Amino acid sequence: FKEYYSKEKTLALRDIYIPYCTELFYRENPIKIVRSQGTYMYDQLGNKYLDCINNVAHVGHCHPHVVTQIYKQMGACATNNRYLHDNTVILAEKLAKTLPKALEQIFYTNSGSESNDLAIRLARQYTGNYDILVLDNAYHGHLTTLFDLSTYKFKKANTDMKPPEHVHVVPVPDVYGGKYRDIDYNNDTEKLVELYVNDIRRVVEEAESRGRRIAIFFIESLQSCGGQIIYPKGYLKQTFDYLQSKGILCLVDEVQTGFGRTGTHFWAYQSYEEDIVPDFITMGKSMGNGFPVASLVTRRDITQKFDINGIEYFNTYGGNPVSCRAAIAVIDIIEKEKLMENALNVGNYLLSKFREIQKKYPIVGDVRGRGLFLGVDIVRDEKTREPGIEEAKEIKYKLREHMIIVSLDGPNHNVVKFKPPMCFSTVDADFLCEKFETVVRECQTKKEDKPEN
Ligand code: PMP
Repeated sequence: FKEYYSKEKTLALRDIYIPYCTELFYRENPIKIVRSQGTYMYDQLGNKYLDCINNVAHVGHCHPHVVTQIYKQMGACATNNRYLHDNTVILAEKLAKTLPKALEQIFYTNSGSESNDLAIRLARQYTGNYDILVLDNAYHGHLTTLFDLSTYKFKKANTDMKPPEHVHVVPVPDVYGGKYRDIDYNNDTEKLVELYVNDIRRVVEEAESRGRRIAIFFIESLQSCGGQIIYPKGYLKQTFDYLQSKGILCLVDEVQTGFGRTGTHFWAYQSYEEDIVPDFITMGKSMGNGFPVASLVTRRDITQKFDINGIEYFNTYGGNPVSCRAAIAVIDIIEKEKLMENALNVGNYLLSKFREIQKKYPIVGDVRGRGLFLGVDIVRDEKTREPGIEEAKEIKYKLREHMIIVSLDGPNHNVVKFKPPMCFSTVDADFLCEKFETVVRECQTKKEDKPEN
């Protein structure tokens, strides 16, 4: 594909027609991508960027098998879920193999937001309760119901907005930066988990004492926008045990983390404790490798209660043969190209290389990750762990000059995020780490030359 307009003209037209609030990377000098393949994207001049963040292009940008399957299906029929089609059930069978037996019912949607929103409707109908419990710094989607519980968004905009009355927020069990980080738990995560689970109990009991009743708890398996957070072992299990025993339904949001990203398990929540059974799992992003397809899976007794009053579920595009075909192709490629194995190996390789860098430069405060889901916490001060906001920004911008795309996240935007396509290779990893060390070194040297008071 060639460009239709010059980059300047595209930008000028975008400024006219597309609302300014619509997110744009590197707003001062945005990148125009005209082509992409594997882990690389190419701009209008043919410059090649290494993509370290696109978890939608899960099996690699424009994977030829996925592209061909979509193209062929589009030419055969692109009807809707009101007709029978094999793709609907082939995909369901493939997903079912990865899921706990109890979660056998699948709703197809077009986005993570739609899936999460539908889960709220189901949970309210099932429990008869209305309220929602969620982690702080969460992001679960752009629809009104989800925006209300995504405190990450309020903080990002630096507003003093608060969630509405029906949303109850609990602290993030963030080992490095969370509220209990200074407690001397001597690596005994049991103690830490107890503290965080007690916080949940307190919030739930306090809400109940005011007559509020919680229908559903939302949690990402690894908190992504919140800063690539991995919870301490035992947290998810104990939290679910407590909430489920009270009749509160538990949802794991796998929109960012699913489809084998963590390398060891198909769903990231399984990499904590294998006997956790959520009431809902939502998935999206990577599911269609760029083609819109998402899903919500749940139990049959929950879906049965949903149709009790005769209201049917229909979603114009959800579960159409083309989107299902795209997802089938993605799952097939994950298996055929052993991408989970690759995610685990390359992820561990990156983790060890980042940890070597961490030892040399105090601005690298923490390095964490599972498979190809990694975060590097940049700090101003190693001891106080004060977020290195300017430093992180500088690292991101300098990496772009080296033709590497990363993003920043966490409530303070100081966590450098890595969630590349699953075909990220050790060659990509070496290139990234070499440049990453260069820019971190420059940033550290600049800081030491100009000590702060
Ligand atoms: N959940 C999580 C964890 C997400 O990161 C996102 C999107 N960033 C969503 C839900 C919403 O997905 P979508 O943008 O497809 O609606």
